[in-house]
Amino acid sequence: MNSAERETLKTDVLIVGAGPAGLSCALRLAQLYQAHHDHAQPSSSQPDLKTENIFVLEKAGELGAHCLSGALLDPVALQELIPNFRSLGAPLETPVSEDAVLYLTQQGRIKLPITPPFLRNHGNAIISLNKFVKWLGEQTEQAGVSLFPGFSGIEVLYEGERVAGVRVGDKGIDRAGNPKPNFQPGYDLRAKITIFAEGSRGSLTKQLVSQLGLDRGCNPQAYALGLKELWEIPSGRLKAGQVFHTAGWPLPPSQYGGGFIYAASETQLSLGLVVGLNYENPGFDPHEAFQQWKIHPWLRGLLAGGRMLRYGAKTIPEGGYYSVPSAAVDGALIIGDSAGFLNAQRLKGIHLAMKSGMLAAEATMDALLKQDYSKSQLAGFERAWKASWVGEELWKVRNFHQAFDRGFTRGALHAALQFVTGGRGLHARYESGPDYQHMRRLPEVGGRARANLKADGQLTYDKLADVFHSGVQHDEDQPPHLKIADYDICNNRCVREYGNPCQYFCPAAVYEMEDNADGSGKRLKLNPSNCVHCKTCDIEDPYQIITWVCPEGGGGPRYDGL
Ligand SMILES: Cc1cc2nc3c(=O)[nH]c(=O)nc-3n(C[C@H](O)[C@H](O)[C@H](O)COP(=O)(O)OP(=O)(O)OC[C@H]3O[C@@H](n4cnc5c(N)ncnc54)[C@H](O)[C@@H]3O)c2cc1C
Repeated sequence: MNSAERETLKTDVLIVGAGPAGLSCALRLAQLYQAHHDHAQPSSSQPDLKTENIFVLEKAGELGAHCLSGALLDPVALQELIPNFRSLGAPLETPVSEDAVLYLTQQGRIKLPITPPFLRNHGNAIISLNKFVKWLGEQTEQAGVSLFPGFSGIEVLYEGERVAGVRVGDKGIDRAGNPKPNFQPGYDLRAKITIFAEGSRGSLTKQLVSQLGLDRGCNPQAYALGLKELWEIPSGRLKAGQVFHTAGWPLPPSQYGGGFIYAASETQLSLGLVVGLNYENPGFDPHEAFQQWKIHPWLRGLLAGGRMLRYGAKTIPEGGYYSVPSAAVDGALIIGDSAGFLNAQRLKGIHLAMKSGMLAAEATMDALLKQDYSKSQLAGFERAWKASWVGEELWKVRNFHQAFDRGFTRGALHAALQFVTGGRGLHARYESGPDYQHMRRLPEVGGRARANLKADGQLTYDKLADVFHSGVQHDEDQPPHLKIADYDICNNRCVREYGNPCQYFCPAAVYEMEDNADGSGKRLKLNPSNCVHCKTCDIEDPYQIITWVCPEGGGGPRYDGL
C-alpha cells in the first residue's frame, strides 16, 4: 500500500516489546514524569510530559504470552523499581530453599559437594515469567502508560540516519499478499525516542544493528536455545523452592549446555534443557536431546505418574559484555536481551533486562528535558549501564561463554580460571565466531547424531505434541513470516552439504523436507503456524538465508503459567 493510505501517529517515546525490559523502562519513565511534575516549576519552555505519550507495542495478544524463562528471579532490580512489590502482590510465591548442581551420566548422577557461588540462589524466587510480566504490565498501565498488545513492529523508520519510529504490521493480508475483508493497515508510529526491547534476536534490532553497523568491534552475539516444560507431579518427591542445575548427559563433552529443574511447589516443576547453538553436528536436534534428558533414571523417577502441562522454547543471548552492540543511536536505544544484557554463567537476564530498561528511562528523561534526542545525548545510557551493577556483573563474566567455543570440558576449565581471575582467564579478551559457523558439513562429522528416541506421550513427546502444549496459534491465511531467500540452496545444496539442519534445530516442526511428487528428491515445506517465535532458524541456518519477521500481531505461542 502507498504511504498516503497509512496513518501516522506521533508520540514522545515508543517502546517495542513488553517484556521485563520494555515494561521496566516504561514504568520507570512514568515514575520520573511524576517526580518531575511534583517538583518542577511550571514554565513554557518545559516539554509537556504526559505518561499516555509513552507507547509500548507488544506482538503478543496478551502481555506475557510470548515471555518464556526458567525462571529464578534475582529481585535486585524489582526492589529498586517497585520497593513495595510484595504488598502490591508481585507473583514471587516461591523463595529458593535449596540449590544443587548435578553431573549426570547416562544412568547415574554425581552431586557437586559445593554449589558454585554463581549458582547459589538464596534470596531469589522461582517465578513464572508469564505471570510476572502480566503483573508488571498492570503496574505500568496504572501509571498511565499506553500499552498496545497485539501489534507487531515490522520495520524501523528513519529520517536520514536518525531512528524516527516503527511501522506496525498490517492485519488481514492473505497468504498471497492481498487484503482480506478484515484488512487494517498498520500505523507508522513516529517518536522522539524509540526503545527496542524485543528480547533475544529482535527482528527490528537486527535490522538496526546491521543498518548502522552497531556491532562493529564486538564479538558476534552467541546464543543458546532453551526448551522448557511445566509439569505437575505427585507430591512428596521434592520440596517447594528446590533448585537443581545439571551438566553432562545427554550432551557430549564437546557440547555446551545443561538442564534445570525448579520446584515452584511440591507438585509443580519447571524443567528444561539449554543448549549452545555453537554445536558442530548439523543433525543434532535440541528437542530430541531435551526429551532424552527426561529419560535419565532420576528424572524419570521425579516425573513418573505426572502430567506435562505446557511447553515452550526460546533463544538466549549468551555472548555477554563483548557482544553488546552500541546501544545508543540518534533517536533510539536498545535494552534487555535485544542488546545482550544477560549473565550466561548464572543463566539470568530478567534483572539485567529490567535494570537496563530503568537506566534507559533515565537517559530518555534527560533527553526529553533537554529536547535533544541525538546519539551524543543518549550515549548517557551507555555510560550509565557500564558504571552500574549491570556493567559490574557482566564484566566479571566477560569471557565466560566464549570459553565454551571449543567444547564443554575445555570451557569449564577456562571458566574456573576466569572465576579466580575476576573474569579474565588466560586472555584479556576471548574472541568467538558466530554460532552457525561452528556447524560442520554432514560428511565431515560422519552423519547425523541421533538419539533414536520414540516419544511415548507420557514422559517424552514429539515436536508436534509439544507444540500443541505451547498454545501456539497463527492465522494460517497470511504471508509466511519465515522468509527464505533462496529455496534452491535448501533443496539442492543444503540437502547434500548439511542434510537440512532446519528440520532438527527448529523446536517446533516448522521446517519439513517432503518428497517431490515426481520422486526426484526432496523440497522444503514450511509450517509457519507452528512457530513459537524462538528465532533459532534466523540464527542457526548455515547459509544465513532464513529471516524471521513478525507475523500478524496477536499470533504466536500462549505461554500461560510458563
Ligand atoms: C529457557 C530459559 C530459561 C531462562 N531462565 C532464566 C532464569 O532462571 N532467570 C533469569 O533471570 N533469566 C532467565 N532467562 C532469561 C530471561 O528470560 C531473559 O533474559 C528476559 O526474559 C529478557 O527480557 P526482555 O524484556 O529483554 O525480553 P523478553 O522477555 O523476550 O520480552 C520481549 C518482548 O518483546 C516482544 N516483541 C519482540 N519483538 C517485537 C516486535 N517487533 N514488535 C512487538 N513486540 C515485540 C515479545 O513478544 C516479548 O513479549 C531464561 C531464558 C530462557 C529462554
